[in-house]
Amino acid sequence: MGGLLVGFGGFAWVGLTVASVLVPFALRRAQDERTGLLLMFSAAAIIGASSPASPRATAHSFAARTPVGTLERIRARAGRSIDIIFGDDAPLARALLIADQRQIPAEMRDRYATAGLVHMLSISGLHVAVIAAAMELLFQVARMPRRVALLGAFVATGLYVMVIGAPPPALRSAAMLGVAMISRLAQRPTSPWAAWAIGAFVPLLVPRTALDVGYQLSVLGMCALVAAGSLWRSLVACAVTAPLVAWVFGRLSIIAPLSNLIAAPIVTLAQPVLFLALLLAPLGAIAQFFAQAVHPLLFAFDWIAWSAASVPGAAVAVTTTIPAAFLGALAAGALVVACVSRFPSRPAIVGVACLGLMIARSGEVELHVLDVGQGDAVLLRTDAGRWVLFDAGPAWRGGDAGRSTVLPYILRRGGTLEAFVLSHPHTDHVGGAASVLTAMRPRVYWDAAFAGGSDAYSLSLTAARNQGIEWHRVHPGDSVLIDGVSLTFLAPDSAWTVGLKDPNLASTIAIARFGLVRFLLVGDAERAEEDWLLEHHRDELRADVLKVGHHGSSTSSSDAFLAAVHPDVAIISVGAGNKYGHPSLDVLRALSQFGAQVLRTDEAGTVIVRTDGAHVEIEAGEDKWQVAHDSSGH
Ligand SMILES: [Zn+2]
Ligand SMILES: [Zn+2]
Repeated sequence: MGGLLVGFGGFAWVGLTVASVLVPFALRRAQDERTGLLLMFSAAAIIGASSPASPRATAHSFAARTPVGTLERIRARAGRSIDIIFGDDAPLARALLIADQRQIPAEMRDRYATAGLVHMLSISGLHVAVIAAAMELLFQVARMPRRVALLGAFVATGLYVMVIGAPPPALRSAAMLGVAMISRLAQRPTSPWAAWAIGAFVPLLVPRTALDVGYQLSVLGMCALVAAGSLWRSLVACAVTAPLVAWVFGRLSIIAPLSNLIAAPIVTLAQPVLFLALLLAPLGAIAQFFAQAVHPLLFAFDWIAWSAASVPGAAVAVTTTIPAAFLGALAAGALVVACVSRFPSRPAIVGVACLGLMIARSGEVELHVLDVGQGDAVLLRTDAGRWVLFDAGPAWRGGDAGRSTVLPYILRRGGTLEAFVLSHPHTDHVGGAASVLTAMRPRVYWDAAFAGGSDAYSLSLTAARNQGIEWHRVHPGDSVLIDGVSLTFLAPDSAWTVGLKDPNLASTIAIARFGLVRFLLVGDAERAEEDWLLEHHRDELRADVLKVGHHGSSTSSSDAFLAAVHPDVAIISVGAGNKYGHPSLDVLRALSQFGAQVLRTDEAGTVIVRTDGAHVEIEAGEDKWQVAHDSSGH
């Protein structure tokens, strides 16, 4: 019986809400309002009581050493409750309720970015405002005096922000709401800009907040809402946040105005119900009743994102460069000015023109061989500003190259990390992986899966699992296309790796092609693997740029292999004065003999190779030069 009732919960809830809200308001009689609410809750209580063995979150003691620890524990507990109550909807509910996006697959986040709805996934301050408004309405309906209702709503909202672990956007929103409520209680009008500014002060307390994308989106979005007044609110908010989304996700959603117009009311409706379900989590079945009630709304929200993203041309790629960032900032500023100005046409035109200019793509693909000391970290950047990382540099006591070099490098240039490719599990290659995977959440992790790696390797696998990153074993012949760059794996073959002792010989071999230009990345492959490649893929080895194997050691780069690759440019990633004596003089000599320009990261620092698909340009330090194409060997 209980199960049946819970099953029909969604429909019952719709009817009860209509009854409890519409009927009393139609009759305009206080008792009936209360009757309606009472009806709604008692129905829920009956369902809860009659439901068999309701699952419930286990109680934990609140013993905590630090306030931050307490907050995290509360949030983790809320997360577990959400998993139990919401089932398949849990990833979306986690994002919307406690600003936890870890369970949202990268693919889905991608879809929301294309649809222009990704700002709704990072708990926008709007959610907190919706909940505050819903609480106030609830207290008013319960005939509480106005002041008490206002205060009650504020306290409840504060509690909510604590329960979700006080993510910066929610904190910002709560501060702004607090100011607005105090001004209403004191009956002194306050400028909404003042309230907005006070809300935006969170970084004064926690400076790191300034770097939080959720916080940035929330401040910008709220700025747009204040500027827009009541007119076209969600549209203006999405236009003003568009440049920031373009910077972070490398695309500008064209369909965003439409998708936002449809999705905004749905999320506004869903939010209070989600909240109620979380609040009632200890009551098991009642919480599930609300969770099922909200299911159609979440389904509709996801469906809108899916449909909007499937429209051809839903989003255009934006290359995230410094000029693009300036254009974006200018666009956002101009759009806000257009909203508050009495003569909005000029700033509006400037804003739209800047957005238009951002779309211009460079049409260039770049390979960045980072200077990470003794180790490898190579970044490929598509002309849409997306990145693929091959190896993540070394780790050392208390630090790693992922955190110290790779992450700042990507963040300075903007754009998302599409994939991580690990050549092999030695610490000088996998050391920085866990940091990068955790911070950048690429869609996939490609790995040669050579058993028995370092601690850093296990850490990277754990990070991938925690962040919901797809893990794939590399198979020779596998190929993917990322923004016009085709990436093909040539090795290792699983039959080849069986019985191998040395991870170097099971290095992932990848060839990236853009137009006519080819980059070959060979990890730490040594002679035995080179011979295997010559035997199986000789015709595919030809490349304009070679990341030289095993830091230029004499155990790699055999003459036969170099003859097959015949690179114009050879880049050696190596630490200055390393204890292994890399690179070997013989290898340097051989590379020159085959006509390759040799660049070493210990001498040149980070090396950037740029191509339009036909020409190759090199940038190292202050210098930039074109590579003369040697056609004799091709
Ligand atoms: Zn190495
Ligand atoms: Zn190695």
